[in-house]
Amino acid sequence: MAVPNTGSRSSRWSLQGMTALVTGGSKGIGYEIVEELAQLGATIHTCSRNETQLNESLHQWASKGYRVTGSVCDVTSRAQREDLIARVSSEFNGKLNILVNNVGKNIPKATTLDYTEEEFSFMINTNLESAFHITQLGHPLLKASGAASIVFISSISGLVSFNGSIYGAAKGAINQLTKNLACEWAKYNIRTNCVAPGPIRTPLAELHLKDEKLLNGFISRIPLGRIGDAEEVSSMVAFLCLAAASYITGQTIYVDGGITVNGLLI
Ligand code: NAP
Repeated sequence: MAVPNTGSRSSRWSLQGMTALVTGGSKGIGYEIVEELAQLGATIHTCSRNETQLNESLHQWASKGYRVTGSVCDVTSRAQREDLIARVSSEFNGKLNILVNNVGKNIPKATTLDYTEEEFSFMINTNLESAFHITQLGHPLLKASGAASIVFISSISGLVSFNGSIYGAAKGAINQLTKNLACEWAKYNIRTNCVAPGPIRTPLAELHLKDEKLLNGFISRIPLGRIGDAEEVSSMVAFLCLAAASYITGQTIYVDGGITVNGLLI
């Protein structure tokens, strides 16, 4: 049975002594999640495909005194996922407190009929299968830590029709996976939650946000009247990993400026 956290108030708001794996941490939302967890005291391993960009980010974190290591890994490869978890296990002595499945990618298209078989496989693998398998592989490490937290990064596309049907289907599946794992693994004191952002300024989103008509269309539907920043997502991820959130599991939390509760959204 999961035990209540009865630590001091300061220990409930700290990640000191915790270990974390954040996938896709070299830029965008993942970069900010690494920063946020590191500032709260965690030791982190991250991964991405582009070695130059990854090394640049690792250099920036080292200069700030953060404990962050990284490895090149394409999470769409089953073999590379196995190597990643083996590396994390050896680095953290077989124990992992925090797993953030952040990698995700979209190929937006006007209609479902435009998608190819290859695009379907690529997006289901990148957004769903990779996170599912990394979580399976990570289970022994999470269990061994005695108190663990998994956070999936979903999207408002998992709730409403927005940005393409395959991406939406994969993110909707992530929301459901969150609920199943929360129920299955609570007995190991593993909490599982999901953060679902709306439009956030990152390299992934930048391409679409360049289109001024599209940008103004988004903004007119967002009650807070602006696109979000990656730090506004990473702070929610960090909160869910803290002992301060010890009674929260199975939830999908929308960090979206209110767009999903806007009655005008069609
Ligand atoms: P991003 O700016 O493109 O950053 C993605 C990160 O993941 C990078 O570090 C990238 O590095 C890495 N990555 C991508 N594919 C990978 C792969 N196959 N294997 C390993 N690493 C990989 O994306 P983002 O906007 O921060 O998005 C992060 C998450 O938030 C995604 O799950 C996305 O679906 C979700 N999200 C974003 C928005 C938004 O508006 N930005 C909204 C809702 C949800 P490399 O390219 O070097 O591999």
